[in-house]
Amino acid sequence: MQRITLQKTIFIYLHCKDYCMRIELFKSLTVALIATTLFCVTVHAQSKKNKAKGVSTTDNYSVLKQLADADSARLVEIFKDLHLHPELAFNEKRTSAIAAKELQALGGYEVFTGIGKTGIAAVLKNGDGPIVMYRADMDALPVKETTGLPWASTATMKKEDGSVVPLMHACGHDAHVTWLLGVAKIMLALKDKWHGTLVLVVQPAEEAIGGAVAMVKDGLYDKVPIPDYLFGMHTMPYAVGYLRNRPGYDGAGSTGMEVTFHGIGAHGSAPHLAKDPVIMAASAILDYQAVVSRSISTLNPHVITVGAMEAGTVANIIPDKAVLKITTRWYEEKDRDAMIRGIKRVDSGIAMMNGLPADLYPTEKLYNSVNPLKNDTVMANRLNGALVAAVPGLQLLSPPASMGSEDFPYLIINSKKDYVYDYIHVGVSNKEACAKQSKDGKSSIYGNHNPNFAVDLSAIPYGTIIGSSALLELFK
Ligand SMILES: [Zn+2]
Ligand SMILES: [Zn+2]
Repeated sequence: MQRITLQKTIFIYLHCKDYCMRIELFKSLTVALIATTLFCVTVHAQSKKNKAKGVSTTDNYSVLKQLADADSARLVEIFKDLHLHPELAFNEKRTSAIAAKELQALGGYEVFTGIGKTGIAAVLKNGDGPIVMYRADMDALPVKETTGLPWASTATMKKEDGSVVPLMHACGHDAHVTWLLGVAKIMLALKDKWHGTLVLVVQPAEEAIGGAVAMVKDGLYDKVPIPDYLFGMHTMPYAVGYLRNRPGYDGAGSTGMEVTFHGIGAHGSAPHLAKDPVIMAASAILDYQAVVSRSISTLNPHVITVGAMEAGTVANIIPDKAVLKITTRWYEEKDRDAMIRGIKRVDSGIAMMNGLPADLYPTEKLYNSVNPLKNDTVMANRLNGALVAAVPGLQLLSPPASMGSEDFPYLIINSKKDYVYDYIHVGVSNKEACAKQSKDGKSSIYGNHNPNFAVDLSAIPYGTIIGSSALLELFK
C-alpha cells in the first residue's frame, strides 16, 4: 500500500508542471523516504538484536500464540458480556467491576479501583527495568446497534432529563478492555522473559474526553509510578492482521463548543411576534461552514461539525432558545482559535441581523479540549520494527493522519517526567468480508461509531498477541 502511494507520488512529481506543487511533492517524497529508511533500519536492527540475544522471534510468537489461544474462550466470553452491557462515560460501574475482578483473580497484580470515578490501575512489579503503562478505555456510545449479531446490544439508559438512549460499544472499547485482560495474564505467565514494572490502566470516559485527566486529578500517581513509556491500542475497521502505527502526528486536537441562541417565544402562527432562535441556529449551522472554507488555509486540516441541535417541544410553539453542540478539529492552535473566533462572529452577526437586544445575544461555552496526538517517533518506529519481526504476516498500513481525537496522552502529558507515548490502531474486521469488499467494491465493513461496527472474534486473541509483543519489546 505504501509502495503504490509512493509510486503514484513519484509519477505525479515527474509529470507535474506546477512549480509550487512540485516543491510540495518533493517535500512529501523526502519525508516518505526518510520514514521508509528509518523503518527499514529499525526492522534490521531489531532482527540483529534478537539474533545477538539468541532469541528467535518465531519462538516468541508461538509461545504468545499458544497462550492467547488457550485463553481465547475466556476472553471471547468476557468480550461478549461487555458488548451486551455497554455503559456511557463515567457510568462504567459494571465494566469496571468485571475488569477489577479479573485482574485480582490473576494474582500478582496490585489493583486500585475507583480512580476518576470508575477507573482502575493495576501494578505488576517484576524487578529492575523500565516502567511501562498500558491503557484501555471502557466507555460505550449512545448508538442503537443494528449488526444483528447474537451478542448485539439492546441496552438502553435513562438520562438525567428522563430521556432514554440506546447504548452500544460502537467504538470497540469492549475489545480494548478484553485485550488488556488477556495481556495481563500473558505478562504474568511470561514474568521470566521481562523485567521492570507494568502498570495497567482501565480508563473511563474517553468518548466524552475527560477520563484520563479525571484519573490523574484523582490521584492516579499517588498509587502507581509515572511511566517511562505509555502504550495503547484502538480498534479500527481494517482486516484482522493489519495495523497502523504512525510516527508523529496521528490524531487531531479537539475542542467542544456549545452555542445557545436566545430569543423570544411566541405562537407558531405569529412568528412576527417572536425572535425565533430556531431560524438563527439554522442559519448559523450553514454559516459556520464558510468559516471552515473561507477563514483558514485549505492546506491545514480543520473541521467544524454541528452534531446536535436542541430546540423546542411541539410544532406550534416558537421556543425561546436553541442549543447547538459543536466539535472542532484542528492540528494548529491558531486554526482552533480562528474557528472559535469565526463561530462567535457568525453568532453575533445573526443576533444583529435579527435585531436582538444586547442581553439576548448568543452565549458560547467551550469544553473538553485536547491537543493533537503525536506519537513518539523513536518509540513508534521501534514498535513497528518489533511487531513486524515478531508477528508473522502482520501488515503495516500508512494512511494519512486522521481527524479523530484521543485523551490518551493526558495520562502523562502533565507529569513531571519526560514522557513518550505511542498509540496504535489494530484491524478488527472480518478478513473474508474485507477481501470480498475490495473485490466487489460494495461496503460491508463499517467504521467506528457506526451502528453496524463489529469486532470479529478472531481479533480478540490477535489483539492480545499484538499488545503482549509490544510490551515485551518495551521491557527490553
Ligand atoms: Zn470513539
Ligand atoms: Zn474509541
